[in-house]
Amino acid sequence: MQALMQQHQLLLSGVLDHAAAFHGEREIVSHLVDGSTHRSNWREVQQRAKRLANALTTLGVQAGDRVATLAWNTHRHVELYFGVSGMQAVLHTVNPRLFPEQITYILNHAEDGYVFFDTSFAELLAGLAPQLTHAKGFVAMCRRDQMPQVNLPNLLCYEDLLEAASPDYTWPRFDENTASSLCYTSGTTGNPKGVLYSHRSTVLHSFTACTTDGLGLSARDSVLLVVPLFHVNAWGIPYAGAMCGAKLVLPGPNLSGENMYRLLKEERCNFSLGVPTVWLGLFDYVERNRASLDLSDIHLKRLVIGGSACPRAMIEKFETLFGAFVIHAWGMSETSPLASIGTLLDKHRDIDLQQRFDLQAKQGRAIYGVDLEIFGEDGQPLPHDGKAFGDLKARGPWVASGYYRAEGGSVLDADGWFATGDVATLDADGFVQITDRSKDVIKSGGEWISSIDLENAAMGHPAVQEAAVIGVAHSRWQERPLLIIVPKAGQQTTREDLLQFMDGKVAKWWMPDDVVFVETLPHTATGKLQKLKLREQFRAHVLPTDMA
Ligand code: AMP
Repeated sequence: MQALMQQHQLLLSGVLDHAAAFHGEREIVSHLVDGSTHRSNWREVQQRAKRLANALTTLGVQAGDRVATLAWNTHRHVELYFGVSGMQAVLHTVNPRLFPEQITYILNHAEDGYVFFDTSFAELLAGLAPQLTHAKGFVAMCRRDQMPQVNLPNLLCYEDLLEAASPDYTWPRFDENTASSLCYTSGTTGNPKGVLYSHRSTVLHSFTACTTDGLGLSARDSVLLVVPLFHVNAWGIPYAGAMCGAKLVLPGPNLSGENMYRLLKEERCNFSLGVPTVWLGLFDYVERNRASLDLSDIHLKRLVIGGSACPRAMIEKFETLFGAFVIHAWGMSETSPLASIGTLLDKHRDIDLQQRFDLQAKQGRAIYGVDLEIFGEDGQPLPHDGKAFGDLKARGPWVASGYYRAEGGSVLDADGWFATGDVATLDADGFVQITDRSKDVIKSGGEWISSIDLENAAMGHPAVQEAAVIGVAHSRWQERPLLIIVPKAGQQTTREDLLQFMDGKVAKWWMPDDVVFVETLPHTATGKLQKLKLREQFRAHVLPTDMA
């Protein structure tokens, strides 16, 4: 029997219209490239997104066309999020931190017609422009008097385009399964692959962000959006923020600890999101200026940390410094990204703080909409005992079913599971613990050692800024762990001191066979440790335990 409910397509334009109608005054605050602060609100975002849709129509952009951005977190980028997708074109956010050849590859592969860019990237784009096969024009996201002096064909000014366009625009209605945005994953091997989100998948994902055991995003939140708008749609926050009328605070290009602290304070942010490495700058700023800062100025209550494993020491530090609860989440471009979220259960109401930190160091539980399961080498599901670890697979309405233009071929198994490439355990309550990327696990004597666990233990040491663990060849054990440490500025520690500190915190046979000290660690464009590079760098490292 067919139900008798209305058929309304879940479109992003509808989300923005709701924000404008019911949260119109709620602010969007941006720190811009020129250092100024700009204040807008959801009503203005709607008006300007409509002007943008008219401007794009005049430029000849049609349904399904890809429109690229190389831009920071600002109100203009949020306008593009809704204006481009709302008019039925596809917003393609490009990570400007990628290598220039990768950016060229991505822009050509997506066949982007227009590229919108922040002026910080003008020179970069001018260098790439001759190789771009489909570019019809470039739009600088600034005012006329701020236009960059660069050699770019058909260079246009964002504010001029909007000023010349009418704010009257009726959003088109179309199938909710239409593509809304495109993000390329920066795989460590091979070419980047495009994940193509739909209006429907994005709206469903937004509902989840707004649920209490999702991210609990609401109209009462003031959100410092540290995660870039070019990293998996800023984890969906621009859409979810519009859905619930959250205030967005956008730091533009300035992610210094000082600027983050200032924005947290001045905009009374109670919620923030970002990858683990960005917070090191905030901690460093607070530590250096501890005497002159009044931390009661900071109203931060919740943070979402993901993108790579959040060290337990970071979770503890947010609690002790600001009284802020870290929601540790796991996901990937292919899962939109929210998949598992670290909120607590009723039975954890009275657990002591140390136990709670242990729990928060896991990556949370699957949320409704994403099925998660772990599988052994024989392809069979593994027990949920918090010990057995295997390939983590995901499926659900906001999980990718394939890559753009069928790159990489079919990606789902016969049961519809997407193999995430991560290795994890699941415990009896369903808490996920990521032990490694499958290619990063350390295989020692036929058993697996989790590099993330070891990094976590080392990060607890007060003199450690950052830690990485990789497997290094060993004649007897095949591979053994090597711990690579970046010490905190002005602090020193020794190999013996570190190993002694870790003793008892990890299984004896997991203990690193050696420790080396370096000034920096290599990171990918989205802040993940580049273990492939580290393995190359330390390929010839001889472990003191290797007597061969
Ligand atoms: P991306 O598609 O660039 O967002 O990268 C997704 C990958 O980041 C995942 O497959 C994981 O390997 C890693 N990742 C994301 N969140 C976490 C987390 N909380 N802990 C450990 N690894 C994570």
